[in-house]
Amino acid sequence: MVRSVRISLATKCQLLFGAAVILILSAALGVVWHRMQLLVDEGQQEIARQLASAWVDDKIQLGAFLQPVERIEPPTELGEGMTLSLIDKEDFDLAVVHDPTLDSVIEIFQMRPERQDDFRRKRDLHGQAYYRYVRAIRKSDMAHIQGGVAAGFKPTLEAPGFADPLEKILLIQLHAQLPARQLMLNRVYLIAGGLLACLLAIGTFWFITTKLILSPLRVLRETAEQVGRGDLNIRAEVTTGDEFQQLADVFNDMLTTLKKNTDQLQGINKSLDLKLGELAETNVALYEANKIKGEFLANVSHELRTPLNSIVGFAEVLEETLIDRTGPVDEKRKRYIANIILSSRRLLDLINDLLDLAKIEAGRIEINPSPMSVADTLEGLLNLLRPQASKRDIELVLRVTPNIPIVQTDASKYQQIVFNLLANAIKFTPERGRVTLAAAVMNHPNSPADEPMLRVSIQDTGPGIPPEDQQRVFDKFTQLDPSVTKTHGGTGLGLTISKELADLLQGQIEIESEPGHGATFILWTPMAINTDTGNAPLMPSHRP
Ligand code: ADP
Repeated sequence: MVRSVRISLATKCQLLFGAAVILILSAALGVVWHRMQLLVDEGQQEIARQLASAWVDDKIQLGAFLQPVERIEPPTELGEGMTLSLIDKEDFDLAVVHDPTLDSVIEIFQMRPERQDDFRRKRDLHGQAYYRYVRAIRKSDMAHIQGGVAAGFKPTLEAPGFADPLEKILLIQLHAQLPARQLMLNRVYLIAGGLLACLLAIGTFWFITTKLILSPLRVLRETAEQVGRGDLNIRAEVTTGDEFQQLADVFNDMLTTLKKNTDQLQGINKSLDLKLGELAETNVALYEANKIKGEFLANVSHELRTPLNSIVGFAEVLEETLIDRTGPVDEKRKRYIANIILSSRRLLDLINDLLDLAKIEAGRIEINPSPMSVADTLEGLLNLLRPQASKRDIELVLRVTPNIPIVQTDASKYQQIVFNLLANAIKFTPERGRVTLAAAVMNHPNSPADEPMLRVSIQDTGPGIPPEDQQRVFDKFTQLDPSVTKTHGGTGLGLTISKELADLLQGQIEIESEPGHGATFILWTPMAINTDTGNAPLMPSHRP
């Protein structure tokens, strides 16, 4: 797992600036350091050069140049550790054995007569630094020294190396301890100065970052944290008079707007809460009213059915007594009685439907599953409706796939649904049409594959139902074509009740229809009602 290391802005600034200060000071002091070494080197070179010139002049005056001096005691004011040797060209090889780097110096002197001397810093066997100065003494110098110039000696420019050959070298070694000590002291001062400058620079920057940059930032951060904890009354107090103050002002303005909006939202929330409470109360009241309405309907329908049944019964008796009687008065009576019977029956149908619906809505309907033979039930229903169909010459067809197992359902509710759908199909099919009742066991697209369902379809050759009305027909009192109702009757409650019953049987009703090509109502129900889930539908309801 990658963990991100969090470094505060203050630490970041201080680290970066510290590194930058150290780098810049190191570079600046490095130059001084180097320059100091060069100055000491140049001073030592000058000393050696002057010493060599003095020595050579001295020899000229003494006229004893040709007597080689192996070692000369240094002048006391120059300190100890200074040696001077004059090496004749005969001894060059010997000198090279002692100091191999002399070889290249001698070679350069021999090749280039304009080169007078060579100076370099070296280290002895003990690691001590010393300076070696080598002065070339050529034939012209010798001639000059010995009065050679007067004798007419002149170096040839065409072949200078050979024209003015190297005769001797003067070797001066300076074990310059005093300058080395001074150099060391200077370096110590330099380092101390550098460290002090570093500390001062870092301290200054620390002060600047902490006081000028980070403290307003800290105020802003703390304010933002307080806001994050929900305190919208806090404000950032920054009075630096610079961009930080501008930032704080903008931040404070933002907080003011936020506070205003939050207050508004809280107000709206409060009124919403109130409305919600009112709505809940209205809902309870509605529920109560609905329940009372259901109970009232159930009671009233019951009270209405009894007298209506007597009216129908007595009207039928009256009708029978008039069967054999003819004459204009009796014909009139027969017509009136037929009207009473028809109207009473329609009223009774309406009341029955209302009673059923009221019971369902009041939750007073109980489901009693029992074994049911699909083929027998459907055939019985067809037989019941056959007289009605044959009156209008409508063909009734039954198609049941063989071996449909016995299903566990509430048979009377199931029959009521199919009866309603069949009655509708016959009612809306024109004369000489056909109604097909079919049954099969198959999977519904929305149900689990291992749970096949009973599919019963009622297909007619009537006007059909346009797609936009296929949901609406299940609403209470919905009738698409009221003219049909006039001739054939109907309450607009049949499909509503059928749908509610199908829900209770844990099934559903679907419609397949194209206007002008008949309609097919399909009733899907489980092979056995699941009593564990109560009466909850197993399938999604088709009603929005
Ligand atoms: P109704 O008592 O009017 O038949 P329903 O609830 O049974 O009441 O039907 C509601 C409406 O649905 C009907 O009035 C009719 O317009 C339409 N409908 C029902 N079944 C069919 C069908 N088989 N063909 C065409 N329309 C139908």
